[in-house]
Amino acid sequence: MTEPHAKPDTAIGIDIGGTFIKAGLVDTDGNIIYFNKFETPSGKPSAILDVIITAINSIVNDYSGQYNIEGAGLGFPGIVNPIEGTVKYPPNLPSWHHENVVEKFASEFNFPVYIDNDANVMGIAESTWGAGKEHRFIICLTLGTGVGGAIIIDKQVYHGANGGAGELGHITINPRGPLCACGNRGCLESYIGGKYIVRRTLSYLKRFPDSYLHELYIRDKNLVTPKEISRAAEMGDILGLEILSEVAFFLGIGIANFINIFNPEMIIIGGGISNWGKPLLSRARITARKYGMKGLCEGVRIVQAKFKNQAGVIGGACLVFNNKNRNTSLKK
Ligand SMILES: [Zn+2]
Repeated sequence: MTEPHAKPDTAIGIDIGGTFIKAGLVDTDGNIIYFNKFETPSGKPSAILDVIITAINSIVNDYSGQYNIEGAGLGFPGIVNPIEGTVKYPPNLPSWHHENVVEKFASEFNFPVYIDNDANVMGIAESTWGAGKEHRFIICLTLGTGVGGAIIIDKQVYHGANGGAGELGHITINPRGPLCACGNRGCLESYIGGKYIVRRTLSYLKRFPDSYLHELYIRDKNLVTPKEISRAAEMGDILGLEILSEVAFFLGIGIANFINIFNPEMIIIGGGISNWGKPLLSRARITARKYGMKGLCEGVRIVQAKFKNQAGVIGGACLVFNNKNRNTSLKK
């Protein structure tokens, strides 16, 4: 009889979004062993927490015989305080105001649970195993329905005084600009967040009556999505190109500001809109270099994220591995 091998170390990552809760088991090299997603329940926060608890318990039941599960890392939208364990005002979970998530979890599991803001979690994934793994000073932007950000300083996420730092989508680009979900006007998000891009495209339809996007709108207004806008631009559609140029311009302006403030080595662009790829990034680079300070822009790499829709799960697991040797466990 040979000695049984030690079980490989793994961690659970959970990504809580407005539409889906994604759950997975990840090894210490960032490989996904298991992945699943569940619809986010509407209603009270306790319904969401119940889905998370069920998802974690199911992974523990199925995989703890084979793997050593070191903990669970959760990415929440909103203002997250990783030390206190609280989540405040997630924008896409309207019933949620202020919850101590960690108190709720402390009695449920016999391993530590860590939380952070979802954009920070994605930043951690990219910084550890993704596009930024060779770099120490990184700014990460997540371009989805809204715009999230992560500030990585010397490989660590910068959290600020109350855990809320990195709301890069809500820097003001134009104080008289469109209304943003945060209540202010003209935030970066209100120019380059997915839902605002669609809204602006629709408002331009009359100016571009011969465009492919107008034709699409006539067929069914729900067909005008960020993906179709990007496809239209690729086909040379005049409105598609107009929107692409605008989004790239505002993204570039945002990046120029971040370069001037943080002097990063790399800017990583993730989320659904980042799939617009090279046409978006090459235009944004030109604007960023034009508006950023010359001495700071030199050598800054502006790249697409490595991880796609599993970034939150991979980053959640990374929270566990990164915290393992620090005494910051939130488990009481
Ligand atoms: Zn805003």
